[in-house]
Amino acid sequence: MSGSTSRDVATAAFLGLGAMGAPMAAHLAAARPTLVWNRTSSVAEAHAASHGSRDVPLDAIAEAEVIVSCLSRTVDVVDVARQVAGDLRPGTVWVDCTSGEPEPSRVLATRLGEHGVAYLDAPVSGGTAGAEAGTLTVMAGGDADVLERVRPVLAAFAGRIVHVGPVGAGHAVKAVNNTLLAANLWAAGEGLVALVRAGVPATTALEVINASSGRSFPTEVLIPERVVTREFPVTFTLGLLAKDVGIARGVLDAAGSPAPVLRQVAELLTVALRELGPDVDHVAALQLVERWAGSEIR
Ligand code: NDP
Repeated sequence: MSGSTSRDVATAAFLGLGAMGAPMAAHLAAARPTLVWNRTSSVAEAHAASHGSRDVPLDAIAEAEVIVSCLSRTVDVVDVARQVAGDLRPGTVWVDCTSGEPEPSRVLATRLGEHGVAYLDAPVSGGTAGAEAGTLTVMAGGDADVLERVRPVLAAFAGRIVHVGPVGAGHAVKAVNNTLLAANLWAAGEGLVALVRAGVPATTALEVINASSGRSFPTEVLIPERVVTREFPVTFTLGLLAKDVGIARGVLDAAGSPAPVLRQVAELLTVALRELGPDVDHVAALQLVERWAGSEIR
């Protein structure tokens, strides 16, 4: 693949056709021959029928030169990789788009390296809307030259691809980013519910905040679209956000950073997870803020 154009990459494989993976793999299949595998095989069969990908048993992904995974957790990726590592050909690149854990991914990179397979941690941001539009931001950790070789493949679903450091750095950036999302979401919820109780409608408060310095992605998009409407559509579960914030806690520990605000957010998400369960949308965490305050944000 060295010195190749995107068209020279014969085959890609995509593992994990969930809320993010299905649209990402659809973009990949539109650009090149793409094998798909999903733990629940009916999902892969449906993807092949709808998007022209080819559903295969797990061992058949060894045909691909570039393997992209987007599973729930690093432990899932490690488990799948353990099953196929011995079948993979030297020179294969494994791009893990899961929002995962730095240290076990470094171990996985070493194990794959023993088979001549290069590993990049390459989590994504942009949500399901970005996955469907093919405009995700990819934050990649690993060998910069390897990233350049697979950049044309990832461009099928990415609007921006940033090399952020060695293996594990992509996961670290993603975990901190999502902890900032959780902090902004929770803080905005606390502020808005207090304003509602002070007699200011949430939409009025948001009109001002979104033209002022307190604005954030939650105030501009998530709260108007999901909380004020009372819709709370499930696109990114609370369980997955709590997982990311837990990973960030490990990043803070490894850095020896006190980070009291971010650690407090991790505690709050643990409570929200206990009260609301893992399957609600992450934005539903504000239902707990509302319950504690005794008013809805509307
Ligand atoms: P989903 O729950 O929709 O999909 C999870 C996928 O992982 C499914 O294909 C599932 O297979 C597979 N899977 C789970 N456990 C295993 C396992 N043990 N072995 C094999 N396959 C497994 O999650 P999302 O698509 O929302 O998220 C995927 C990743 O992307 C997560 O790391 C998440 O944090 C991250 N992410 C999510 C965003 C979002 O907005 N949803 C945004 C950015 C990143 P099966 O169909 O069999 O259950």
